Amino acid sequence: MEKAGFLSPVIPTFKKMEEIKKKDIRALTREQLREFFVSNGDKAFRGNQVYEWLWQKAAYSFDVMTNLSKETREMLEANFVINHIKVDQMQRSSDGTIKNAVRLHDDLIVESVLIPTKSRTTACVSSQVGCSLDCRFCATSRLKRMRNLNPDEIYDQVVAIDNESRLYFERPLSNIVFMGMGEPLMNYNNVLKAIDKITSPDGLGMSPKRITVSTSGVPKLIRKMADDEVKFKLAVSLHSAVDEIRTSIMPFNAKFTLSDLRESLQYWYEKTRSRITYEYVVWDGINDTQKDVDALVEFCRFAPSKVNLIEYNPIDDGEFKQASNAAIDRYVNSLEKNNIVVTVRRSRGKDIDAACGQLANKS
Ligand code: SF4
Repeated sequence: MEKAGFLSPVIPTFKKMEEIKKKDIRALTREQLREFFVSNGDKAFRGNQVYEWLWQKAAYSFDVMTNLSKETREMLEANFVINHIKVDQMQRSSDGTIKNAVRLHDDLIVESVLIPTKSRTTACVSSQVGCSLDCRFCATSRLKRMRNLNPDEIYDQVVAIDNESRLYFERPLSNIVFMGMGEPLMNYNNVLKAIDKITSPDGLGMSPKRITVSTSGVPKLIRKMADDEVKFKLAVSLHSAVDEIRTSIMPFNAKFTLSDLRESLQYWYEKTRSRITYEYVVWDGINDTQKDVDALVEFCRFAPSKVNLIEYNPIDDGEFKQASNAAIDRYVNSLEKNNIVVTVRRSRGKDIDAACGQLANKS
């Protein structure tokens, strides 16, 4: 559980100031590393060796790079730092869910979650410190966006959860969802670079089909993803298919309206032929009528869709309440009648504030 004041940056010490002046070696591409060695009178393949240590073996210190000479390691130490995350605090829920409070190199904190089920282990990772959007039901929206995460900071969250999965569940991580703190499409380039490393044989070699980017719906960037021919899956936090209601709970909807969102998703489907998943919470008195259900069915019609009805986890002011079972049944019946795949998702890790929408609840 996060402590109060968690997100206050700490003033860097003198040693840290020196470190800050050095370049983060993980910002270099393989080619740039090769060039660095050549320009220092060494062989280009040293760049490959270092690159493998950094990404395949997730090395956080030059000392462990034992196939390099001591002089080479000292030369790297003098020129670079390896900025990396540190799991400051790990909490385990009674249902097995693990939440990590992750300290970044500049002492800011984000959270990531490991969700185990019988058949899979899923990492829910953060993409920004805080969030620039303002969904009223979400704890993260109360934290201003401080900065975007770098590709390596996203990658490191995945590595940390993969290690925990092996340690506590004796199996590797199987899936990743970008559903932690932040709107991933507002950090588009870094999220794509991180996914590139996660899926590359040079990195973790995971299949992109096991990765889902969940967005609150930024039409321009959904189109860009389609143009960039990404191979991962797309989920949209929809929560209402009625503009007026969606704007009242997700105010940015006034700018990115449902018709724009729908057009961009149509474009996505035409280009990728990849089914769209909608994340949807049903709240008491907000979106629990038959009119709301009919609007969702209508919204989903243009492409093969799946709707995840997610149980709501109240954040402290109690303004939003989970709808009744009868309202959920209304959604399930209508969606199924219209041949739309629907699942009802129970939340995990509620006792440690690791459930959907709860991250940063206690900061
Ligand atoms: S739900 Fe997602 S996009 Fe909305 S405020 Fe929370 S973190 Fe940001």
